[in-house]
Amino acid sequence: MITITKFGGTSTANAEQFRKIKDIIAADPSRKFVVVSAAGKRDKKDNKATDLLFLVNAHVAYHVDSASLLDDVGQRFYDIADELGLSYPIREEYGHFASNINAYDPNYVVSRGEYFTAKLMSEWLDLPFVDAADVVVFHHDGTFDLERTQMRVRDAAHRVGRFVMPGYYGATVDGEIMLLDRGGGDVSGSILARCLEADLYENWTDVSGFLTADPRIVKKPKPIRRITFDELRELSYMGANVLHEEAIFPVREANIPIAIKNTNRPEDKGTIIRETAREGEDEPVITGIAGSKGFLSVHIRKTHMSTEVGFLRKALEIFDRYGVSIEHIPTGIDSFGVIVNADDVKKNIYAIINDIQKTLSPDEVKVVDELALISVVGRNMAYRPGVAGTLFTALGKQGISVRMITQSSQEINITFGVNSSDFEDTIRAIYDEFVAKEEGNE
Ligand code: ASP
Repeated sequence: MITITKFGGTSTANAEQFRKIKDIIAADPSRKFVVVSAAGKRDKKDNKATDLLFLVNAHVAYHVDSASLLDDVGQRFYDIADELGLSYPIREEYGHFASNINAYDPNYVVSRGEYFTAKLMSEWLDLPFVDAADVVVFHHDGTFDLERTQMRVRDAAHRVGRFVMPGYYGATVDGEIMLLDRGGGDVSGSILARCLEADLYENWTDVSGFLTADPRIVKKPKPIRRITFDELRELSYMGANVLHEEAIFPVREANIPIAIKNTNRPEDKGTIIRETAREGEDEPVITGIAGSKGFLSVHIRKTHMSTEVGFLRKALEIFDRYGVSIEHIPTGIDSFGVIVNADDVKKNIYAIINDIQKTLSPDEVKVVDELALISVVGRNMAYRPGVAGTLFTALGKQGISVRMITQSSQEINITFGVNSSDFEDTIRAIYDEFVAKEEGNE
C-alpha cells in the first residue's frame, strides 16, 4: 500500500507542527512519500512564508531594500531548526540565498518557501529529499508534462525508496522554476499520487474535512464523511473550499481516493473523496449545502420566443462579446433569465441591455439583482422521490421565496436562487430540514 501525504502551510508552520507530522508519518508505514507546503500561518495574524517571498520580489522589482522581510522568513526556518535540533546548515544556505536575492528569477525566490521547509522536514523525518525541480516537469508554455514527470518521479522513488518533496513548484527541462497556482501544493501531492499509482492521497490541513454547510452560517455543522468527485466539484464551485480545485484531476483519472485530514486532530475521521461513494440505507440524502451571494439575472421576455430560431443564441452571444460567463439559464416558454456574476457585468450592464434591445427587440428586459445562488448537493437525491418537495416546502414555511430553480441532468444537485437577504436563513432552513435530522453522516 502506498499513501501520499501532503501537509499544507498551517501543518508546517512551526516546530510543534513538525512534531505532529512525525507522529502521523510514524503511525502508518504506507505513508512513504511526503509533500510539504511552505511554512504558513502560526496564528490568524501571522504571515505565510510564500506571501512574504512574493513581497520580497516586489521590493526587488522596485529597488527597495528587502533585508528585513528576508530576515523574517529566515527566522521562521531558524526557529524550527533550532527547536528541533536539526543539523541542516539552514543559516548558511538561507543566508546565501538572501544575500544573492537580486540575482534570482522571481519564481525561484517564491519556491524557496517550500524548498527550505522540505529540507528541514527531510532531516526531521529522516527521509531523503527529492527536489520538485528535478522531478516535476513543465512544458515551456507552463502546462504540466505528465509523461516526463512520471518517469522522473518513478525513477526517484526507485532510487531512494521513500522521500520528502516540496510542493507548489517544478521546472522546465532547462531547469527554469515554474510555480503552480497559489495553494498548488495540493496539486503537487495529487501529481505524485498519480505518478506513483498510490492507493490513497492524504491531504493534511487544519480542518477535519469538508462540512455539510458553512460554519459561519450554521452552528457546528456536521462533517461530510464521504463525497464523490462530482459532488465536490458542485460544492467547491459554489464556495466550499478546502482543497485546490485542480488537485482533483490527476488522482481522479487514476481512481485514487483523497482523504482530507486534520493535522491538529489526526484521530478525526475527515472526509474521503472518491469516484463513487457507498450506496445504502444509512447514507444521507444530502451531502452538502453551498452557495454564494452576488449574482444577478437579466430577464428577457418575448411572446413566441420559443418559435424564433436562434433567439437564445443571439442573446448569449451578447454576453459572450462582453466576456461575461453565464452561470445558469432558466427558461420558460416566452421568457428566460441569464444568471451571471454581478461583478462580471458591473461595468457593462447598460451596454448589454442596450444590445439586447437592439438585437432581439424583446417585449421586456429586466435586471433582477441581489440574487444569491444555493446548491443542495447529494448523490442520493437521485434515488429518493420527494426531495425537492420537502426542500421547497421547508423554504415556504419560512416565508422564503425562490426566484429560480435548476437541476443538473445527473440529479446530484438542485440549484436555486433567493434574495441575497434570505441567503443565510435559506441555508439554515435546509440544514435543519435535512442534515440536522439525519443519522447518516456520523
Ligand atoms: N505555499 C503556496 C501558497 O501559499 C502553495 C501552497 O501552500 O500550497 O500558495
